[in-house]
Amino acid sequence: MADLDTKSHPRQGGPGKYVYLVKSRRAGGLSLGINLNADKKCNFDCAYCQVQRSSGGIPNPSIDEILSELEPFLKSYQQAGHWQGMQIKDFALAGDGEPSLFGPLPELLNSLMKLKTKYQLSAKIVLFTNGAKITRLDLDSVWPQYFGGNNQVWFKLDFWDQPSYLRVNGAKGDRGQVLEKLLHLGQRYPLTLQACFFKPEALAEVDLWAAQAWVDQLKGLLNQGLKVEKLQIYTLARPPKEKQLAPYSLGELNQIGSLIRSQLNLDLALYA
Ligand code: SF4
Repeated sequence: MADLDTKSHPRQGGPGKYVYLVKSRRAGGLSLGINLNADKKCNFDCAYCQVQRSSGGIPNPSIDEILSELEPFLKSYQQAGHWQGMQIKDFALAGDGEPSLFGPLPELLNSLMKLKTKYQLSAKIVLFTNGAKITRLDLDSVWPQYFGGNNQVWFKLDFWDQPSYLRVNGAKGDRGQVLEKLLHLGQRYPLTLQACFFKPEALAEVDLWAAQAWVDQLKGLLNQGLKVEKLQIYTLARPPKEKQLAPYSLGELNQIGSLIRSQLNLDLALYA
């Protein structure tokens, strides 16, 4: 689940192989990214994916490997009170694939919550997902403490019907399965929804029909009890997998934003 800001802003280096630092406009400061999918495997094959898979991946980290990179950094951060003048705003569980596929995800979330307490960090944990295994049973016992502790799940919802699901996300199966997973978690806890809008080619016009269909789908989900904390609409920021795709300008993205705001009373952020 490619993270908007890890892809649109260069990684600043960082404590190690799996933990990296990003100056993030989304987070409003320093984001501490953890790449749970160093093997670059994902259940989606998005047309706009910006993960460079040609170079191949490396084995995914163990919890110990992640913590051995994270803890020394957090110790020095705590002693200094900042990193290069910036505060850590969040721990972003993203990377080069889908984080809910990461085997020991429940243990990692519990470890990160303990580290937040140990180092007295107000930073939130943000788990990015396309929903693949977000309903796995071993996560169920983690959610109450997770959501109760100022942590969030950012759920990717780019499609608006079955053809767009196949086209945009390059996924297999029925989009209804994704929507069921979204509702399974989102009826209990408020989620942030993320959608990437882009043009099929540079000279294409804004596709307000697709945006309207996306809004209609979301209205249906809200009617079924989906809780939405925030919407994030963004566009391409680095070369996508399909080279002919083109980003929207801020003005074009604002047209989509206006359409959404005119029909949904939700907190909406746009990133062009
Ligand atoms: S294929 Fe899609 S879900 Fe998977 S990493 Fe790329 S953008 Fe994220």
